[in-house]
Amino acid sequence: MRHTVSPVGILRSCFKEKFAIPRQPQLAPAARGVLELLPPFDQGDAVEGLEQVSHVWLLFLFHQALEDKPRLKVRPPRLGGNKSMGVFATRSTHRPNGIGQSVVRLEGVEPGRLLLSGIDLLDGTPVLDIKPYVPYADSVSGAVNRMASDAPAAIAVDWSDSALPQAHEHALRLGEPLVELIEQCLAQDPRPAYQVPPPERVYGVKFWDVQVRWHYPQPDVIRVLEVAPE
Ligand code: SAM
Repeated sequence: MRHTVSPVGILRSCFKEKFAIPRQPQLAPAARGVLELLPPFDQGDAVEGLEQVSHVWLLFLFHQALEDKPRLKVRPPRLGGNKSMGVFATRSTHRPNGIGQSVVRLEGVEPGRLLLSGIDLLDGTPVLDIKPYVPYADSVSGAVNRMASDAPAAIAVDWSDSALPQAHEHALRLGEPLVELIEQCLAQDPRPAYQVPPPERVYGVKFWDVQVRWHYPQPDVIRVLEVAPE
């Protein structure tokens, strides 16, 4: 059976590239975005009642990871990237039909727009459906996942003397919690698990319209070096 789906909206996200996006929602509460609804869902009727809900499920397309050939096994970064698992045992982006799902905080509801936080989605992600989170049904007490039992351990993030004022300045300009966003995302340690970079190696990523650069002065410490417009 074939079935065609089309997006109900497109997410405008703080994340402009895949690198350094947290691996699940809620890990960076300061990660914000706006879901712009597409016709006919851009009318107030489609979101009436949603203001009674604190969180929503987003079903979306991993539009930058679509593949023609289905994979049966994947190597999740959570397992260090060197151990493979059945695709259905993981939340990898490489999956049949390319469908992702995230529970995100609903900060505001406007006709044609949902304001969201705690997102783990790339800018431009097509959203296929939106459903209210139902605490009594969606939160399962006693549930077990022995591969991912707890949130990944966070690592220390500190700032160079110049980078912190730069981040505050851009936070004010953008009207966004940029300092928190940088700290929360980098604390997830975006480098691939097998990399032990020398201190002189500089990493970078774009959040909103700024480029953030950092290095690892010690193996488990990140120092933010610069927050500059692109
Ligand atoms: N919470 C979702 C799930 O479980 O289906 C996503 C989990 S997936 C492991 C999270 C990663 O997907 C992020 O770290 C980011 O690199 C990647 N990602 C987010 N949006 C994407 C998109 N539109 N296309 C491709 N990759 C994306």
